[in-house]
Amino acid sequence: MRPQSHEDLAHLVRHTSHMRAVGAGHSTSDLQCSDDTIVSLDALCYMETLTPRITRFGAGCTVFDAQTRLVSMGRQLKGYGSITTQRLGGAISTSLHGQHTQQFADHVIGLTVTLANATTRRVEGEEVDAWLGSMGMLGVVVEVDVLTHPLEHVVCQRHYGNESQLYDALVDPTLAGFEARVLFSDNDFEPFVIRTCLPTVSNATTTTLTHLEDPMQAFVYDNVLLDWALFFGAAVPHIPGIDDAILASSPAGSTVAGETVATVNDYRLPVRFHPHFDEEYAVPVAHCAALMRHIATECIDDNLNAFFYLRRVDPARGWLTWSSEASCAVRVEFFRFTLDGVDVETRSRRCIEAHVVNLGGSGHFGKPWFSSPHNMLLNSPRRHDFISYRDALDPNGTFMTPYTRSLLHNSTYDRPPVLPPSLDTRLLVWRCLVAFNLAITAILAVLYCLDVYRTRLVLSSMETTSGVILNTTPKTSTLRDSSTRRSRI
Ligand SMILES: Cc1cc2nc3c(=O)[nH]c(=O)nc-3n(C[C@H](O)[C@H](O)[C@H](O)COP(=O)(O)OP(=O)(O)OC[C@H]3O[C@@H](n4cnc5c(N)ncnc54)[C@H](O)[C@@H]3O)c2cc1C
Repeated sequence: MRPQSHEDLAHLVRHTSHMRAVGAGHSTSDLQCSDDTIVSLDALCYMETLTPRITRFGAGCTVFDAQTRLVSMGRQLKGYGSITTQRLGGAISTSLHGQHTQQFADHVIGLTVTLANATTRRVEGEEVDAWLGSMGMLGVVVEVDVLTHPLEHVVCQRHYGNESQLYDALVDPTLAGFEARVLFSDNDFEPFVIRTCLPTVSNATTTTLTHLEDPMQAFVYDNVLLDWALFFGAAVPHIPGIDDAILASSPAGSTVAGETVATVNDYRLPVRFHPHFDEEYAVPVAHCAALMRHIATECIDDNLNAFFYLRRVDPARGWLTWSSEASCAVRVEFFRFTLDGVDVETRSRRCIEAHVVNLGGSGHFGKPWFSSPHNMLLNSPRRHDFISYRDALDPNGTFMTPYTRSLLHNSTYDRPPVLPPSLDTRLLVWRCLVAFNLAITAILAVLYCLDVYRTRLVLSSMETTSGVILNTTPKTSTLRDSSTRRSRI
């Protein structure tokens, strides 16, 4: 359903027993798996400048919509991720974050919400924190008041560093932006590629928000590289230099080191990563390297190299949060496209999740989580306050699903597997069909070449024969000449 006004939305809530709000639907967790009435606020996108530093947006605006308007006024949002198509309502209800060290939701200072009793009201002060990262469990957010920031320019440096240099950057309060990448191979980290950005003053008088979509790059990645990697499966990790290629395909830093850039453009990336590796975890900074070591040595089989992408998350305000203290956000990739892929991935992710929880962390609320959903919230210090608050607002569970119930109460339900086992069968069928097609194409190509070769042979032998005939024919005989031409044709 797409309500066109606040009144429409209230009417819908009044007449619906179970409802789920949806933003862009970019969360790859179980959050959107629901048979309830799905409500999209895309029609509710508007903007009102409340003070020079605070802007009110309709929750249906995309991050890009909001940024476009703000940039024209010399201001911006902070904490967005690599893409900007998320709706503001969805962005603040999960763990959206990026190269800015503070996550997106932490810039929200007020909300307008529609509750289960169909009333629409303001949420302000400390109560706002209950709604940040609340995953749609409290009601529908219809308006978001956000603290905006002046357009910021930064100078970024990229350097290779060891673990202690990584920690220096992770706790450096002067940084405006941070990201790092590293490969774990031969039982140790290769040097970290660390990118740090410091604020600077720029002479730029105007900044334009650039579109980053590169259809050709996305096409090649999705339809050529990924497909061949899937096709060759287990052989891929053994291709010499594949790890370097992975690192090179997502370099830490899209800018030339030392260049002054506007964060509003530079902190976004054209998307080209395997959605399968979308999982992301946050653990307190002190445990960052320990987590990566556990993952590489205990969770990933077959001596595969693990590739880590790190970002930094300052302590978040939400009552439910994946980073209650200063954390590093870790995304892990490893290549293993074998026919037991679903099993391997599920086992590896569960192993990783156990370490994450033991180290005081959690998973990104909008990304897949394989073990009990309840474990995601074990390290959210205010989850009991959240449960009481939620029960008071929505006693009949209008905004709850079996998944979110399991998040809060550890209730069991018939949860569909995060990765369906049928994926392996589909991979097998797809590989067989591709192999069959390749074989047929090769056979046809050989037959065609043989045919061309045979025709050439016939023609040249006929040419020889014709030459003999022509040589023995009187030059004046036009009849013989034309019949020869016909036979040559
Ligand atoms: C290609 C790609 C790249 C990504 N890159 C990043 C990244 O760099 N950093 C990062 O942190 N994440 C990233 N993500 C994850 C994703 O962007 C986040 O989970 C995002 O915050 C989801 O926003 P959404 O609008 O799609 O919300 P949805 O996925 O639609 O919804 C998320 C949750 O919010 C609730 N919700 C939505 N709207 C409302 C509302 N109006 N009121 C109440 N509740 C609501 C929903 O019920 C749901 O529980 C990426 C995802 C993809 C697919």
